[in-house]
Amino acid sequence: MIPVRDDLRALEGYHSPQVDVRVRLNTNESPLAPPTAWRDALAAEMSRVEWHRYPDRQAIGLRQAIADFHGVSADMVFAANGSNEVLQTILLTYAGAGRSVATFEPTYQMHAQIARVVGSTVVAGERDADFSIDPAEMQRVVESARPHVTFLTSPNNPTGLVEPAERIEQLLQLSSGLVVADEAYAQFANWSALSMLDEQRPLVITRTFSKTWSMAGVRLGYVIGPTWFIGELDKVVLPYHLDTAKQIAGRLALRFVDEMDDRVRLIVAERERLSAALSEMPIDVTPSGANFVLFRPRVVSGRALWQGLLDRSVLVRDCSGWPRLADCLRVTIGTPDENEAFLTAVADVLAEQGDHHEP
Ligand code: PMP
Repeated sequence: MIPVRDDLRALEGYHSPQVDVRVRLNTNESPLAPPTAWRDALAAEMSRVEWHRYPDRQAIGLRQAIADFHGVSADMVFAANGSNEVLQTILLTYAGAGRSVATFEPTYQMHAQIARVVGSTVVAGERDADFSIDPAEMQRVVESARPHVTFLTSPNNPTGLVEPAERIEQLLQLSSGLVVADEAYAQFANWSALSMLDEQRPLVITRTFSKTWSMAGVRLGYVIGPTWFIGELDKVVLPYHLDTAKQIAGRLALRFVDEMDDRVRLIVAERERLSAALSEMPIDVTPSGANFVLFRPRVVSGRALWQGLLDRSVLVRDCSGWPRLADCLRVTIGTPDENEAFLTAVADVLAEQGDHHEP
């Protein structure tokens, strides 16, 4: 066997088990498919593609469509294969070996994972018990580590918490490095940092087509930021990294904004219904601005509840063994029927197991 890079030996990889169940609420996908009219438009354009040619290297049409959607210029947009590849390209460009990357834990695990893969040192700030970030902790992390890149995920995964604007403002004041606001779930929340973007500020915002656009199967994400930043990413990413089919799929999706808004409205309403129903049970619920909810049962262990749900063919994300998330589970908002099946199963497991644990 050939040994891997010394600094990769301890790395574990990112796991999200894919089990065959009736109700799958574990990966924050949309439960609803994109509109049929989008499929038809996609099929029509795909039939005209010159497949023997490389794709548009700059993905001009797609960038322009994303830029128009957000009211920015196309040279403020960079797209890649899922926002994970966007994050990787950002870290290859602004972090890499010998530089440090700051996160506030618990948060999206791929930030630290990708940072390690590109050879950076990860500095983990700690959130408070309610998962908010204390400005004093932010100051400690930024002043001690002087990170080249700092991540703020809003809404945060897996907690669902939305960062207040002042937190991003404070971070920009404190830090001399790049601030990446990961807004994979922002359209489910009540605000976005988009209006804080400025050519003179090192703030960039990442987004994805995987959630609100119901297109996790396409693998498409993007970042909006100052033009000097976008120009550097374009130098680092592989040539022709975005295939023709994906460019078309993304560009056409942006013609169906009203349908996307309708889906988001339904999921937000269901999130509120589900959160309220869980709060009626012996369960602590973290307020969420995303398409998922983090919760912690009080009368059984998180692991026992997860297994009880799986036994009833309902799969949620088991965060109970993750650092700082003892007994926590995360449920993705599904269709009304799926959410009902989930709530019934939770009540059932608690009734069955809680009796044995109640003092
Ligand atoms: N950021 C956050 C906070 C996420 O939760 C996810 C998906 N789980 C991503 C980025 C990556 O999304 P994708 O690569 O599908 O665009």
